[in-house]
Amino acid sequence: MANLANNQQQSQPNKESALFPTYARYPLAFAKGQGSYLWDVNGKKYLDFMCGLAVTNLGHAPAAVADKLKQQLDELWHTSNLFQIPNQEKAAQLLTSMTSGDAVFFCNSGAEANEAAIKLARKYQQKVKGADRYEIITFTQSFHGRTLATLTATGQDKVKEGFHPLPAGFVTVALNDLEALQSAIGPHTAAVMLEMIQAEGGVYPAETEYVQAVAELCKQHGLLLIIDEIQTGMGRTGKLLSFEHYGIEPDIFTLAKGLASGFPVGAMVGKDYLKEAFTAGSHGSTFGGTPLATAAVIATLETMQEQNVIEHAAQMGDYLMQQLHDKLSGHSFVKEIRGKGLMIGMECAAPVNELIMAGQEKGLLFVNAGPNVIRLLPNLLITEQEIDQAVQILSEIIHEYAPVVSASGPSGV
Ligand SMILES: *Cc1c(COP(=O)(O)O)cnc(C)c1O
Repeated sequence: MANLANNQQQSQPNKESALFPTYARYPLAFAKGQGSYLWDVNGKKYLDFMCGLAVTNLGHAPAAVADKLKQQLDELWHTSNLFQIPNQEKAAQLLTSMTSGDAVFFCNSGAEANEAAIKLARKYQQKVKGADRYEIITFTQSFHGRTLATLTATGQDKVKEGFHPLPAGFVTVALNDLEALQSAIGPHTAAVMLEMIQAEGGVYPAETEYVQAVAELCKQHGLLLIIDEIQTGMGRTGKLLSFEHYGIEPDIFTLAKGLASGFPVGAMVGKDYLKEAFTAGSHGSTFGGTPLATAAVIATLETMQEQNVIEHAAQMGDYLMQQLHDKLSGHSFVKEIRGKGLMIGMECAAPVNELIMAGQEKGLLFVNAGPNVIRLLPNLLITEQEIDQAVQILSEIIHEYAPVVSASGPSGV
């Protein structure tokens, strides 16, 4: 199994494609999705344990969201943010009533939500506080998006390659190292931005004491605390927002992926006192918060409330973690199982791409987080039976592939 180390083997560029080859795509295309399942164009059925990377949190084509969208499609799609948008007001009311945030700016993606957060932090420090503060401190292995500012904020060199010069005013320090953060804070620091669980970076949770100390440091130094909840938010970790596990309240948090069940919507949510910094004309988005997009947000949030989705996600997260420990933690290939709720990472002894494709063969979809980590992100309405099915397939795959890996040793990255 020498090609286990070849993490790019699925990336044979399709010369016929008229797309830029920015993705190493698997040779699979889906035609239908319902609940926890997808069907490919040949009719083969797959149990989905990645959910478009934590997007389809209520499963595929959830009826309540679909109904609301169909109704809105017949009524009104788009006007302009120059007018009142009742759906946008209602979505913001719902979001702020369910969280510690007071005000919402809607956009269309995670990167835009983080971009808005960075702009708001600078504007607040400079215009409201009158301080020469602009620097944002972020963390190694973080992921915050692909725009120039958000890829600069991202603590991974691979996303920055070839895009220099990058915007100034970003500093990256190691996570869970308070001294490193302390020494990075200076007279120009405006904000600290982090994920509670680094998702793309390998499913690494921030430590509770550390996070509380970071929040305290921000208060002491007059810095804004920005939490990127784009992947961890919307119930994914067993709370609506992952920072609720840590007993802190950030000044700003950002959402996207699961916010509208797959309809593209991003949101930047902040405390009341930040409204002063984002006055008329200071920021905007043509498509941000359209009647159609915010209909999907409303239906998603209402469904989460009505069906106790978060409680269910927390229970199923415990169940999945338990099953993985029972069935797999004894295997030498599995080094560590970590995460919270329904965001779980299994650190393995070698690259896992071959296992991902073996999963696809057996009808189970999951993804990696870095070369050696299997990442499991089922929808939040997943059942015990579906979890059993997934763990069974994972167990088969690991038993079929892992001995070969162990024999040849970890193959490096
Ligand atoms: C996906 C993701 C983003 C970027 O979101 P896009 O919608 O792809 O721009 C930012 N931060 C985190 C933590 C993410 O997981």
